[in-house]
Amino acid sequence: MRKNIVAGNWKMNNDLSETETLIRELKLQNKPADVEVMIAPSFTNLLQAFNTLKENPIEVVAQNMHFAESGAYTGEVSGPMLKSLGIKTVILGHSERRAYFGETDEMLAKKVDAALENEFRVIFCFGEELKDRKADNHETIVESQIKNALFHLDASALKNIVLAYEPVWAIGTGETASPEQAQEMHAFIRKTMADNYGTDVADGVSILYGGSVKPNNAKEIFSKPDVDGGLIGGASLNAEDFFAIANAF
Ligand code: PGA
Repeated sequence: MRKNIVAGNWKMNNDLSETETLIRELKLQNKPADVEVMIAPSFTNLLQAFNTLKENPIEVVAQNMHFAESGAYTGEVSGPMLKSLGIKTVILGHSERRAYFGETDEMLAKKVDAALENEFRVIFCFGEELKDRKADNHETIVESQIKNALFHLDASALKNIVLAYEPVWAIGTGETASPEQAQEMHAFIRKTMADNYGTDVADGVSILYGGSVKPNNAKEIFSKPDVDGGLIGGASLNAEDFFAIANAF
């Protein structure tokens, strides 16, 4: 059966001492059984976070990586660098990476390949913008984002892919997709996976929802049959809120 996952995307928040403080608070929380809990601090604090959580079930993951192994890419971080810290999971394709740093589907296909070559699990993010939803184009957009970045992969690679549907209009806005909208899209995503890879693969892929998930709406969203957890931004910066969400299944 597919896994339930709650991942906290800290984005560009928390310096070193704030990272240590939040991790101390996270360690005091009750971790739910049968839910994988992850946090994604910034690159500068990854090693400290990783070492502090070595004996703890909370997994420390990266927010991004470059597709090249090494070389003249000033300011970038490679898969082998992350691997050398002990990191095992990387988030790719977040809408902020796409919008502010020009990441395209083609670039993301290369990043996905590089991540899998380095034996990472990938949390692959995608989602439509408000204009797409208003034009009733959201399924077409989401389908093309998934196809362009992932459908060159063999079925066997899909066991290392987690999908994260994040409608751009719901990220950091306080406006979440309704549980019904989330379920409708997640079912569409699973069908898209099934059409290409078969139902066994599609049924095994965890599909997370992201976009203004909070303690007061998580339970209803996670109760939907095709929603297997969440990618949490703002609410992951507070230990109690984050674990209230992780315990909302
Ligand atoms: P949010 O962010 O929870 O603050 O809306 C979600 C995300 O960007 O992953």
